[in-house]
Amino acid sequence: MDKKRLQKYAELVVKCGLNVQKEQEVIIRCGLDQPDFVTMCVEECYKCGATRVKVEWSYMPVSKLGYKYRSLETLSEFTAVERAEWERKVEKLTCLLWLESDDPDGLNGTDSEKISKANQARYPFIKPYRDALENRYQWCIAAVPGKEWAQKIFPNLSAEAAIEALWENILVCSRVYADNDPVKAWDNHNENLAKRCEFLNNYKFDRLEYKSANGTDFTVGLNPIGIFMGGGETTLGSNIYFNPNIPSEEVFTSPMRGRAEGKVVATKPLSYQGKLIENFWVRFKDGKVVETYAEKNGDLLNKMVSMDEGAAYLGECALIAYDSPINNTGVLFYNTLFDENASCHLALGRGFNNCLENYENYSVEECEKLGINSSMIHVDFMIGSKDMSITGVTKDGKRVVIFKNGNWSI
Ligand code: ZN
Repeated sequence: MDKKRLQKYAELVVKCGLNVQKEQEVIIRCGLDQPDFVTMCVEECYKCGATRVKVEWSYMPVSKLGYKYRSLETLSEFTAVERAEWERKVEKLTCLLWLESDDPDGLNGTDSEKISKANQARYPFIKPYRDALENRYQWCIAAVPGKEWAQKIFPNLSAEAAIEALWENILVCSRVYADNDPVKAWDNHNENLAKRCEFLNNYKFDRLEYKSANGTDFTVGLNPIGIFMGGGETTLGSNIYFNPNIPSEEVFTSPMRGRAEGKVVATKPLSYQGKLIENFWVRFKDGKVVETYAEKNGDLLNKMVSMDEGAAYLGECALIAYDSPINNTGVLFYNTLFDENASCHLALGRGFNNCLENYENYSVEECEKLGINSSMIHVDFMIGSKDMSITGVTKDGKRVVIFKNGNWSI
């Protein structure tokens, strides 16, 4: 890929994604796939005034060996070093950049029960730090092509050509072209998303009704003090504007815990714990998943929704046009960052406290009491379809068509 274009992309994820400030620390988490691009990002961070940039490399085959050979006991351990690292993150509000590149099937053959149990055991140690950091630091998830990932998407191309094709798709979806200023393009895009949010927030809908010929017939209750958000966000306290996802096309909110009824049919496979759950649906009653079906890896789907009490409840509902730049590539990415931005979706598990009006006045516990779901998981699954209709209904029964034939109608 053209070096100049990659340079622009590095600038985009560091300046627009993280918005690194002078004297800040940065952690970059990535695989071994694109070390030159990671180096560009590190330099961009220093140019923005970062005092320290740490790269945490990982390599799926090595992680896999850990899951295979280590005991559940050692995998569940929360070490003194990790504790110190979390404490420093909370103290410094370290920026975090994830550059995803992993093979979506990379953990195939590992014991997902063991991984789930280890995560469950570690979660109580991590939660207090996560709560302390929530909405207070800048983070961004972006992607770079890994060989296995690229070849899964483009199985008929050579490894080199597949990586190049995936680069092209990542850059187009992220609005990085040879002849534009992507940072400016993102400013415009953010403005458009903000307008849609304003429209939805002015109506204060009580619920959304989803319908599609594929069998989706579903109603989700919205939070009376909930708001729709999209694009950039602002950190609490330090007021720094950042973009948590590049790309991002969604307008989303955290629905009211306990209010979801009916059946939703997934329209794309879901990659969870390195395995694909395919052709599945879930049925809700009183906000909770009460029935599931999957053609492939249904046991994993059931395990997912029983990870903890909140895993069977919704944390997010997001609206994205079927005609989104990502969906228009026609590529199935097998990666949530892209696929979730190609399609209306729901997420099971943890909700977002900042989807409540004046959320800064509430403690984490109060947000939970106000209807924001809490869980160790947050897993998006896609439900958008070409013929999907979504209708907003206000408390006094006024109905507004928000989506018609898969696209925005407002
Ligand atoms: Zn989402």
